[in-house]
Amino acid sequence: MSRGADPGVGLCSVCTHVRVVENRRGSRYYLCELSLTDNRFVKYPSLPVAECPGFEHETRTVED
Ligand code: SF4
Repeated sequence: MSRGADPGVGLCSVCTHVRVVENRRGSRYYLCELSLTDNRFVKYPSLPVAECPGFEHETRTVED
């Protein structure tokens, strides 16, 4: 089964540049790591992200 984007989050959910931050209450934040070096991007993009010039699909494979 392939991993699709989370519709509530959009592209960030499958982007190689995202860092998912979870707080103690279980809230999840999607931090765009491109924002650290490129001011075209905001640290916490408003979700869902439908289009993004920095988007690169993550290449991580899921192992059994
Ligand atoms: S580059 Fe775009 S799609 Fe990727 S994490 Fe940043 S805002 Fe989201």
